[in-house]
Amino acid sequence: MAISRRSALKFSGVAAAAMAMAGTTAQAADQTSTSNVGIGTKAPISDAKGPRVVVVGGGWSGLAVAKYTKKYAPNADVVLIEQRKSFTSGPISNLYIVGATDLEFISHDYLKAARENNYTYFNATVVGVDKKNKVVKTSDGDMAYDYLVLAPGIDYDYSAWTKDPAEEQRLKTEYPAGFIPGSETMTLKSKLEDFEGGVFLQTVPGGNYRCLPAPYERACLIADYFKREGIDGKVLLLDENSGITIKAEGFGSAFKEMYGKYIDYRPSTTIEKIDLDKKVVITEFDEEIAFDDASFYPHVRGGKLLEIVGVAKDSPFNKMEANIDPFTYECIGEKDIFCSGDVRPMGFSKSGNTSNSEGHYVAKVVAGRIHGKKTKWESPLTVCYSAVSFDPLQAISVNAGYLYNEKTKSFAFANAATSEIWAGKAGKNNGKALFEWAKGMYRDMFS
Ligand SMILES: Cc1cc2nc3c(=O)[nH]c(=O)nc-3n(C[C@H](O)[C@H](O)[C@H](O)COP(=O)(O)OP(=O)(O)OC[C@H]3O[C@@H](n4cnc5c(N)ncnc54)[C@H](O)[C@@H]3O)c2cc1C
Repeated sequence: MAISRRSALKFSGVAAAAMAMAGTTAQAADQTSTSNVGIGTKAPISDAKGPRVVVVGGGWSGLAVAKYTKKYAPNADVVLIEQRKSFTSGPISNLYIVGATDLEFISHDYLKAARENNYTYFNATVVGVDKKNKVVKTSDGDMAYDYLVLAPGIDYDYSAWTKDPAEEQRLKTEYPAGFIPGSETMTLKSKLEDFEGGVFLQTVPGGNYRCLPAPYERACLIADYFKREGIDGKVLLLDENSGITIKAEGFGSAFKEMYGKYIDYRPSTTIEKIDLDKKVVITEFDEEIAFDDASFYPHVRGGKLLEIVGVAKDSPFNKMEANIDPFTYECIGEKDIFCSGDVRPMGFSKSGNTSNSEGHYVAKVVAGRIHGKKTKWESPLTVCYSAVSFDPLQAISVNAGYLYNEKTKSFAFANAATSEIWAGKAGKNNGKALFEWAKGMYRDMFS
């Protein structure tokens, strides 16, 4: 509708304001079709000043890849694309949920990491990769790369429990696993704070799940919390595996000697169905087990980004993990695309230290490629402390590298050393070492 300037002057202030707003909305609607921001536009980032290495995923692995690629190849233009605006740690988060440390200790700053290590932190979600033209597509625009490293971590695979997306969504919202840190961790903390007693159900999945000892560590710490707070509650730990999967001596004795009244551990228990309304789980032997509150940890799979990019394959352990050469981490049939961290298909421990040490190595491989050199394989290193109580802080630990067995065509632990005595001085020393280890790792990734 066209209006003359004269008649427009007759409008009341309110009517004019309404017209003005309508105009703005119409303009905005028009702009969505020719937007200069978002998917399909050019990412707002300066042109590469050297070979561009794009690292996707600012977790324990990606942060190490970004920092050390820049260190080993200073001429590289390194960009870390991460969808989160700040970092929350998985390691130590079990202590956070029971109030044994604060959020600040496990939260870290991507901008600081980028500033101090001379790379770019680009806050966006990667939605695809044009492999032919070597372009990464993000929620904030497209970016060309020379080398691409994918380190998106895990996603959950609920398919053994439900095929119904609505039910899966309810499980994620009402009873999160707490193995992708952030909101899930916070929900777990508030669940414990609100818990008035009864059965708190936890599960341990089969397959090579993220952080083998962490569900047992969490059971101990929750039991410790119930004990300390005088809560008449019990952790019911339903384990799909035939026994405790790691540090079995240490956790086994802690369950019996410290938490006999508070932890009911049931190995070889596979859940077939979860009735969220009745609050019962049904096992493969048709046993019905009731719960008052819960955290359901399903199987894990490689981060969905791998599937979007077309570099995923089922591994002997989990669905859709990285289809890579296990020694160079380069994707099979996809030159210059690498994967690092918990997405790997090798049976290494899916843990922070392992992923971080792998990140150091993958950085060497990429820098070597830039300089036209081959890199000698280095084993990742698994160093993992688990708290069994927090007042006093007592922990157990494992430390191991890996060796490839030509006959079985698989990797196995090498030079593994465990420290599974949680009582007395040994346990307390491990407790101190746990926090020192975490501080060292945060320094490595963020300073
Ligand atoms: C409760 C708990 C306790 C743990 N305890 C220990 C421990 O004691 N010791 C230990 O060593 N390990 C421990 N871990 C395991 C450790 O946290 C993981 O193994 C480690 O984080 C894996 O590193 P990653 O880089 O592969 O994945 P992550 O650290 O998960 O990082 C992946 C990153 O990729 C980002 N991303 C994914 N998709 C996209 C996309 N499309 N675009 C942009 N960004 C994307 C994610 O936002 C995320 O930041 C624990 C984990 C948990 C949850």
